[in-house]
Amino acid sequence: MSTPSLLILPGDGIGPEVMAEVRRIIDWFGAKRGLPFDVSEDLVGGAAYDAHGTPLTDDTMALAQDADAVLLGAVGGPKYDVLDFSVKPERGLLRLRKEMDLFANLRPAQCFDALADFSSLKRDVVAGLDIMIVRELTSGVYFGEPRGIFEDGNERVGINTQRYTESEIERVARSAFDLAMKRDRKLCSMEKANVMESGVLWREVVTRVGAEYPDVELSHMYADAGAMQLTRWPKQFDVIVTDNLFGDLLSDLAAMLTGSLGMLPSASLGAPMSNGRPKALYEPVHGSAPDIAGQGKANPIACILSFAMALRYSFDQGAEASRLEAAVEHVLAEGHRTADLLGEEGRAPLSTSAMGDAILAAL
Ligand code: ATP
Ligand code: MG
Repeated sequence: MSTPSLLILPGDGIGPEVMAEVRRIIDWFGAKRGLPFDVSEDLVGGAAYDAHGTPLTDDTMALAQDADAVLLGAVGGPKYDVLDFSVKPERGLLRLRKEMDLFANLRPAQCFDALADFSSLKRDVVAGLDIMIVRELTSGVYFGEPRGIFEDGNERVGINTQRYTESEIERVARSAFDLAMKRDRKLCSMEKANVMESGVLWREVVTRVGAEYPDVELSHMYADAGAMQLTRWPKQFDVIVTDNLFGDLLSDLAAMLTGSLGMLPSASLGAPMSNGRPKALYEPVHGSAPDIAGQGKANPIACILSFAMALRYSFDQGAEASRLEAAVEHVLAEGHRTADLLGEEGRAPLSTSAMGDAILAAL
């Protein structure tokens, strides 16, 4: 088997700072676990605009299409606010998502025991929480036609259309079932089949795909009830699959069960490539954090956990992913904290690279 390839796009702001720590961890896996990666690095976002006048060159796009996985830091910053929309840093990321056709957005909500007091909920409700929300990312009400603000008699009407084809539902359902197979084999599908036709079709198609996965326990829930259950007792879930709109809301809700933005990884998956693995882009949920950029304050854990997701979902290295996650858990349990994880506590925070050191030591 050839060496798996990884394209790294550090981007802007704290992106390069947190990615530097990931690079050290990638090197560690090569040297100590016999797991080398063919790593290439390129520019995206404002950094690409500064160098090439575009937030993503065609060459970089081609590299992304060829890589086994892409790992991105963050894009954007106040310096670029004045730019025309067509060349804004965020457009680089949008082009990647669109041309790679990344239709399944994976947002884990994982609560490390040491941080359980950061949650907006009670400790016992969230401690040890480990769930995954799969959000359909390329269709639904954010894209359906007709859309617009139209004249209707003597007033205006704003219209969006919730529209899902069977194949769109089927492919995201398949991603979710595949994921459930790698986790606790429990999938809950959320829609509003009681009031929406797209929800009726969603439930039907997910059920049909589920017949191919007899080992996965499938359940259905109305999305509003799902929101209630997520805040009442989130540990009842393993994988949740839902549409673009409900996924937008539910994944943000789930994220806040766990605390800091500096801890949250994500993945966006597309169709399987010739090697059977999905096209994939991994990135921290947080942005470029211009307020702390260049100061060595950023928490690298979200980006490090994004690499752990890549190990698990793009490189079939679930055990190594768990090893990395356990190292993160260990340093948190030992009390290592970057500034974002200290809250009102008066003690001195770790720098970005000191957190990287601690995780490497734990590995
Ligand atoms: P974007 O538009 O790119 O999402 P944003 O300003 O909405 O940007 P972030 O850039 O994620 O969001 O920053 C939100 C806040 O969280 C900022 O105060 C930032 O400093 C903090 N923050 C974000 N990521 C981290 C991190 N990895 N470590 C520490 N603090 C962070
Ligand atoms: Mg934001």
